[in-house]
Amino acid sequence: MLSHLECARCGLRHDADRPQNLCRECASPLLARYDLSDIGKPTGDNSLWRYRDVLPVRELDPTFSLGEGMTPLVPLPALSRALDAKVLMKDESLVPTGSFKARGAAVGVARARELGIEGIKMPTNGNAGAAWALYAARAGLRSVIAMPEDAPLITREEVQASGAELRIVPGTIADAGKALADVDLFDASTLREPYRIEGKKTMGYEIVEQLGWRVPDVIVYPTGGGVGLIGIHKALQEMRELGWIEGELPRLVAVQSTGCAPIVKAFDEGKAESTFWDAAYTDAFGINVPKPLGDFIILQAIRETGGTAVAVTDEQIAADRAETARLEGVFLCPEGAATISAVRHLRGTGWLEADDEVVVLNTGAGIKYPSLRL
Ligand SMILES: *Cc1c(COP(=O)(O)O)cnc(C)c1O
Ligand SMILES: [Zn+2]
Repeated sequence: MLSHLECARCGLRHDADRPQNLCRECASPLLARYDLSDIGKPTGDNSLWRYRDVLPVRELDPTFSLGEGMTPLVPLPALSRALDAKVLMKDESLVPTGSFKARGAAVGVARARELGIEGIKMPTNGNAGAAWALYAARAGLRSVIAMPEDAPLITREEVQASGAELRIVPGTIADAGKALADVDLFDASTLREPYRIEGKKTMGYEIVEQLGWRVPDVIVYPTGGGVGLIGIHKALQEMRELGWIEGELPRLVAVQSTGCAPIVKAFDEGKAESTFWDAAYTDAFGINVPKPLGDFIILQAIRETGGTAVAVTDEQIAADRAETARLEGVFLCPEGAATISAVRHLRGTGWLEADDEVVVLNTGAGIKYPSLRL
C-alpha cells in the first residue's frame, strides 16, 4: 500500500494524499514509497493492474483500464544469431496508443482523478502527450499539451482527437515546457508528477515475472527522460525488498542517439548530472531530451547495477530497423531499433558476452512513424 512520497535527492518525506510536484526543499523528483510487508505475488488481471499492491491508486475504477500492460516478451532468434547474442524483446507496440507511455498515463491519470485534480498540462515529444490526452479524456479530465513542431504527426492527431488543447512550438521539448507557463492546471511533465514512473515500472515487474521470477543479465533501454529506466530499477529494488528476487540486479544500459546524448556524455565523464545538449536532433524522437530532470537518478541506476550508456547514430538505427524487420518480421519504432544498435555495438566491444541474456525494450509501434525513411 502507498505510504508516502520521498525526495530522490534529499530524502524528505511528502504527503502522498494530496497533489505534489517536486520536493519542496530541493525541487527534485519525488518517488512513491509503499508498505511492502505482506504482499504476495500477483494474480488476476492480465494487465499492469495485476501489480496493484505496488501501485499508487487506492481504489481503481474497474471500468477505467484499456488493458494496458502485460505485453509479450519474445525471443529474437534470427537476430540473436546474426549478432551472436541472446536477445529478448519486450514489445510495447501492443499497448493502447501504440507506445509504452500509456502505462505512465493510465496510472498517472487514475491517481490524478483520485486526488481530485481537474486537468493536466504537459510538454511532450509526442507519445506521452497522446497517451495522457487520451487517458485524460477517458477520466473526464481537461488537458493542455505542448509539442515541438517536428514531433510525429500522428501524435498531434491523437491529442487533437481527444479534445485536448494542443500547442505546437518551435524547438525541443524544453521549449514546449516554457510554452505552458500561463496554463493554470496540474503540471504532469516528466518526473514533475510522481506517478507516471509507477506505471512505467511495471515493465520491470513483467520482465521478471515472465522469466519465471528470475532476472536477465542485461536490460537495454532507449533513454529520453529516463522514466522507464528509473522505473525498471525501482521495480527491481522493490522486488528484492519483497523477496521476489535475490542476487545481482541486471546491468542497466541507457541508449541514446549521437544527436542527443547528454546521459552518455555525463556517464563517460564520470559526472553525477548531465549538461544541456545544444541543437539536439534525432529521428528517434522519443529520446530527444537535451537535459533530463532525472539525470542524476538515471546515472545512479546505471552505475549501481554495473551498466553503461551508449550513443548510436540515426543511420545505424535505420539500418537495424530494417534488419530486424527482415530477419524477425518485427517493425520496431526507431527508439526500439536503437536498442538493437546498442547490442550490436556492445557485442563488438566485448562488453556483452555471447551468453548474456539481454532484454531490449521496443517502446512503441513502428507504424506510428510513417514518414520516417529506412
Ligand atoms: C518517450 C519515449 C522513450 C523514452 O522514454 P523515457 O522513459 O522518457 O526515457 C522511448 N521510446 C519511445 C517510443 C518514447 O515515446
Ligand atoms: Zn529534496
